[in-house]
Amino acid sequence: MHMIKSSNIGYPRIGEKREWKKALERFWKGNTSEKELFSELQTLRINDLKKQKEAGLDLIPIGDYSLYDHVLDTAVMFGFIPERFRHQDSSSLKTYFDIARGSKEAVASEMTKWFNTNYHYIVPEISENDEPRLTENRLLHYFLEAKDKAGIIGKPVILGPVSFLKLSKGFEKEALPRLVNRLVPLYIQVLKELYEAGAEWVQMDEPVLTTQMSDEEFKLLESVYERINDETESLHILLQTYFEGVDRYEQIISLPVDGIGLDFIHDGGANLEAMKKYGFPNNKTLAAGIINGRNIWKTDLTAKLTKLEMITNLVDKNRLIIQPSCSLLHVPVTVKSEQNLKPSLKNALAFADEKLTEIKLLADGIHHGKEPIADKLDEQAEYLNSFWHSEARTNPFVRQEVQLWEETDPKRNAPYSERQKNQQEFFELPLLPTTTIGSLPQTNEVRLARRKWRKGEWADEKYEAFIKESMNEWIKRQEEIGLDVLIHGEFERNDMVEFFGEKLAGFAFTQYAWVQSYGSRCVKPPIIHGDISLTEPMTVKEIAYAQSLTDKPVKGMLTGPITILNWSFVRDDISRFAVTKQIALALQKEIRFLEEEGIHMIQVDEPALREGLPLKPDKQQEYLDQAVYAFKLATSAVQNKTQIHTHMCYSEFGEIMEAIDRLDADVISIEAARSHGELITDFEKTNYEKEIGLGVYDIHSPRVPEASEMESYIHRALAVLHPSQFWVNPDCGLKTRGTSETVESLRNMVRAARYVRENIKKAGDPVH
Ligand code: GLN
Ligand code: ZN
Repeated sequence: MHMIKSSNIGYPRIGEKREWKKALERFWKGNTSEKELFSELQTLRINDLKKQKEAGLDLIPIGDYSLYDHVLDTAVMFGFIPERFRHQDSSSLKTYFDIARGSKEAVASEMTKWFNTNYHYIVPEISENDEPRLTENRLLHYFLEAKDKAGIIGKPVILGPVSFLKLSKGFEKEALPRLVNRLVPLYIQVLKELYEAGAEWVQMDEPVLTTQMSDEEFKLLESVYERINDETESLHILLQTYFEGVDRYEQIISLPVDGIGLDFIHDGGANLEAMKKYGFPNNKTLAAGIINGRNIWKTDLTAKLTKLEMITNLVDKNRLIIQPSCSLLHVPVTVKSEQNLKPSLKNALAFADEKLTEIKLLADGIHHGKEPIADKLDEQAEYLNSFWHSEARTNPFVRQEVQLWEETDPKRNAPYSERQKNQQEFFELPLLPTTTIGSLPQTNEVRLARRKWRKGEWADEKYEAFIKESMNEWIKRQEEIGLDVLIHGEFERNDMVEFFGEKLAGFAFTQYAWVQSYGSRCVKPPIIHGDISLTEPMTVKEIAYAQSLTDKPVKGMLTGPITILNWSFVRDDISRFAVTKQIALALQKEIRFLEEEGIHMIQVDEPALREGLPLKPDKQQEYLDQAVYAFKLATSAVQNKTQIHTHMCYSEFGEIMEAIDRLDADVISIEAARSHGELITDFEKTNYEKEIGLGVYDIHSPRVPEASEMESYIHRALAVLHPSQFWVNPDCGLKTRGTSETVESLRNMVRAARYVRENIKKAGDPVH
């Protein structure tokens, strides 16, 4: 077997111009046949394999490719089909997509975040008595394809049995060993067939090794790899971890596998430290993830070589593989496609393809010394240097301002109880005030108008007049519906982060830097490359205009600092916290502008707060403290009568409840319609004092809820919350909904609120 020096863990599926997404969506619409779909995707897949081969990698992953999601692939391969889809042909493409997307008759499987990334996987539904079976060795299929069509002996990638089951749901913890035991023989069969077909290395992903595992769970994992090792001796198994340092390093390096993949980027230094302390076995291969698989920056190759030298003090060079820290699924495909970026920025970027080049350079550097790659090292250093010293990078005023706040503990002028009185007097809202979350239906007309304006077909005046007209229409509608607090509707916004990024200094936007979020859905995060500052008001014009149309309060609408950070690609020369503080100060100024225009109700959305929570419990507190600081830095410099709202669209609140309370927002609105029960218990436990809107209807479906249904939600909430605390609103923004269903739903919602309000009054007003 030839020596393995470089490898990749996984490659983006979506294609340079999202060809994958487009092909899937054409098929779903019924515009192409299954055969056409497969052939289109195969062309793309082979092309991606060839690109990796041309980059000079020794090991190229296969089977990391998916038609939707790799966790779903694993479930279907082992015959785990949710009950409600079992009457369908389980091997059909239709069933596969139905599980992911739902069908007319049955709802889709749940989707959830893949560790701490923005990728979402389909949660397998497995019950204790399910008997797994191998429906198809899909890895073998892809292995043979790569060999045949690209002349590549691929490295099959498979999600390991323990991680796979730990990411699934539907069975009690106690059933885990039993299920694992039933699965292992099937894994062994897959591996044996791969070996017979000529595979040399197989990557088995066990990312749960970077999370806390119980002793029993670890023992179980140990037994799995012992059995696999017994049965597939001549095949090389690489046990792959990512996203954090491993717990139990000492035990992991003793597992009976041939190689171990560690993340040397997102481990906070823990993996290297553990290596120094416990060494690394001389009969194993180390797959060192030292190129960041989650950021978009070129790396300082010279610094990496120094780090690698430290590693080679502990591991024989001939047993060292250079690779990214995780699958490149989490970064865009190639910088090459970008036409509009400033050269200094563009030259500092590395997406998947460019990262593969870096891996190859490092592998060469470590084996043949710096000399042969000296030119490349110099070139890269020069690019980075000119980027780091570019003017946009550092703004002394911003730095100074952040510094000034450094010593402070930003907080509101008065405690909540006092503010609440001021706000009540100022707004004179009824009991159970009704409102919405911010966006209103983004109809085709709205999208078309924006497109025309962006293309230059519409002049600014024409576009602005159109936005005003939309606001006129909807302020009138909201008044007719009878809502108590109105919104301007966010018609001028494409996306809640991009909109602000485009107005702030320090952001850049790409044309094709898409990343898969779930299924065919991709996101194109902005790039934070320089210091962030506000150059002019961002939202005042629209909000103030909307307010001028009505006597009811109009809520100002901003995206919060943590969400802007978490949904962007962030520079890595200063800490993420430092960047968050810059965003917070920009928002603080925007809030002041709004107050100056007489806007005294301002919502600062933080839907991404929860997802940034670190995997390791001992790192969570610091993250939450920083999030609270940033939110307060943005929002606390306001008058007492100014009411700060925040919104978050998820319901797993329990573990972050305390931090949410510390944000000190006067009103918080959260998603609740789909998970009412759990959420209410969270509030029972905490004694939350401020005002809160638990969503009373699910905005993810076009269904119009009855007033009575929403009434019952309100009643349930009032069992644990005081009526003077409670707001009535939908779960989230309405931008994906149609106009008539929105109007109808909101009418019913207002009716429900009024009805409960009257009943409370009749029963004796509890507030006064
Ligand atoms: N204000 C935003 C809206 O209504 C909030 C969106 C979100 O929470 N994701 O669309
Ligand atoms: Zn939301």
